[in-house]
Amino acid sequence: MSKIVILGAGISGHVAAAHLRRKLSKEHEVLVVSPNSNYQWIPSNIWVGIGRMKSEEILFPLPPLYKKKNIGYKQALVTTFHPEGDTESASPFVNIKYVNGEQKGNTEKVTYDYLINATGPKLAFDMTEGLNPGTNKAYSVCTYSHAEHAWHALDDLIQQMKQGKKAKILIGTGHAKSTCQGAAFEYILNVEQELRRHNVRDQAEVIWIANEYQLGDFGMDGVLLSYGDNIMKSSEMVEMVFEDRGIKWILGAGVNKIEDGIAHYETLDGEYKSETYDFAMLIPAFSGHGFKAFGKNNEDITEKLFKGFMLVDADYTAKPYEEWSVQDWPETYQNPSYKNIFAPGIAFAPPHAISKPRVRKNGTSISPAPPRTGMPSGITAKLVADNIIDTINGKKDLHHKGSLGNMGAACIASAGYGMTKGSGVSITTYPIVPDYNKYPDTQGRKLGKTFGEIGLAGHWLKLALHYAFIYKAKMKPFWWLIPE
Ligand SMILES: Cc1cc2nc3c(=O)[nH]c(=O)nc-3n(C[C@H](O)[C@H](O)[C@H](O)COP(=O)(O)OP(=O)(O)OC[C@H]3O[C@@H](n4cnc5c(N)ncnc54)[C@H](O)[C@@H]3O)c2cc1C
Repeated sequence: MSKIVILGAGISGHVAAAHLRRKLSKEHEVLVVSPNSNYQWIPSNIWVGIGRMKSEEILFPLPPLYKKKNIGYKQALVTTFHPEGDTESASPFVNIKYVNGEQKGNTEKVTYDYLINATGPKLAFDMTEGLNPGTNKAYSVCTYSHAEHAWHALDDLIQQMKQGKKAKILIGTGHAKSTCQGAAFEYILNVEQELRRHNVRDQAEVIWIANEYQLGDFGMDGVLLSYGDNIMKSSEMVEMVFEDRGIKWILGAGVNKIEDGIAHYETLDGEYKSETYDFAMLIPAFSGHGFKAFGKNNEDITEKLFKGFMLVDADYTAKPYEEWSVQDWPETYQNPSYKNIFAPGIAFAPPHAISKPRVRKNGTSISPAPPRTGMPSGITAKLVADNIIDTINGKKDLHHKGSLGNMGAACIASAGYGMTKGSGVSITTYPIVPDYNKYPDTQGRKLGKTFGEIGLAGHWLKLALHYAFIYKAKMKPFWWLIPE
C-alpha cells in the first residue's frame, strides 16, 4: 500500500489527485492538503472581474467531492519539508498547519511514500511597495475574491463616469519580473469592452503597462504565428488589437511602487517615471513560497529541494541567456535528490527565462518571467501521476515525459464577454519554449501549429472550455476523456 500526498488543489494538484484516484486501487491512499476548500477555475476570474460572472459560477467545494471519491483532504498549509524523516523515524513527512475548523492553528506531521508539490506560485504583492489588492485603487484578478473586489471598484468608477467623470484605467504588470501577461491582456480587453457596453468608453483613457520589451511577448519572447493566410508576429497582432480598441501602451516598465492612484516605474533606458490612474489591475510577481526543508538531524537542506520554486530534473547550470537550450527544460518534474518528490504546474523552478532578459543600467532586470499556463500545468500533473502509478506497479524508469520544449499550449484570451458581441484572441504555440535548432527560421516555433485567431468564435470556445473544465474538475461521468 502506498500513500501519495498532494500539496495544493489548484489545476495541477487537482488533476493529479483525480487521475491517481481513478487509476489506483483502494488500498492506496491519496491525500490532498490545501488551504482553500474551494476549487476555482482561475481562467474565468477575468469574467468575475468585469461582473459578468459570479464567483459561485467558477468554484465548487472540494470536501464533498473528495469524500465521495475517497480522496483524503486536510484544509491546511504545508509549512516544512522533511524528506529524510527525523531522529524519531526515517519516514519522510511534511509539517502542515490547519487553517480552518476546530483544528485551526494545529500542526501535524503528514508522512508519505510519494509527494506531489503542486503549490503553484506565491502571489508576491509584497515585492512591490504599496501593491496590495484593494488598496491605493489597485486591484488583482488572480483569485476569485480579488476579482470580485476589482469588479466592485470598477463598477463604482463606471457609475461615476456615467455622471460625467473622466477616468484613467491602468492594467498590466505590477513588478519588473511579473509573468502572466496573458491574464492582464484578457482583462484590459474585457474592461475596454465593458466601458463601451456602459456607454462610457469616451470618458476613459485605457493604458497597458508592462515589463515586456515588445507587445505580445507574454513571457515567451513573443511568437511568430500564422494568422489566416498571413504570417505575423504576436507583437503586430496585439498592436493591431490595441490600436483597434484605442488602448495606449507603456512598455519596458518595471513598476516598483504604488501610491494612492499613482504607479511608479523604472524604464529600460534608466528613467524613473510615474502614471496616475483611477483604477488599476496589476499582476504581482510570482515567487516560490519560501518553504524550508530539513534533513534527518534537523539540518537545513532547503537548497536540495528549492531554488525559489522546487528543483526538478532541469539543467540549472548557470549560463548566459544565449547558451540556454530547450533541452534544459524538465521532463519528469522529479526532484533529483529525493526521487519520491515531484513538482508539476507552476511549482517547479524554471531553468531559465524564455524572454530575453533586459537589464537597465542600474542593474534592475525588467523582463517577464516564464509563464506556465493551465494546459501545461494539467499535462505535467497527469504525467507525474502516471509515473507514480507505474512506479507503484513495479516499473523502474519514468516513462511518461513532457517538456515545455516539446509541448504545445493553446491559450484563448477572452477579449470581451457576450454571446453575440464577445470576442477571443486565440494563440496556439508549439512548442512553448522555443526550439531554435529545430525551427531556426521561424523564431523557434513551428508555423501552422503556432497560429492566432481573433473573433466571436474565440469567446464561445473560451466559454465552452469554462463549462468543460468545471465538469472535468467535478469528476462527472467520463471526465477523463476531456484532455488537460
Ligand atoms: C487571472 C488568471 C487568468 C488565467 N487565465 C488562464 C487561461 O485563460 N488559460 C490558461 O491556460 N492559464 C491561465 N492562467 C494560468 C493558470 O491559472 C495557471 O497556469 C494554473 O492555475 C497553475 O496551476 P497550479 O496548480 O500549478 O497552481 P495554482 O492553480 O495556483 O494552485 C496552487 C494551489 O496550491 C495551494 N497552496 C498554496 N500554498 C500552499 C501551501 N503552503 N500548502 C498547500 N497548498 C498550498 C493553493 O491554495 C492552490 O490550491 C490564468 C491565471 C490567472 C491568475
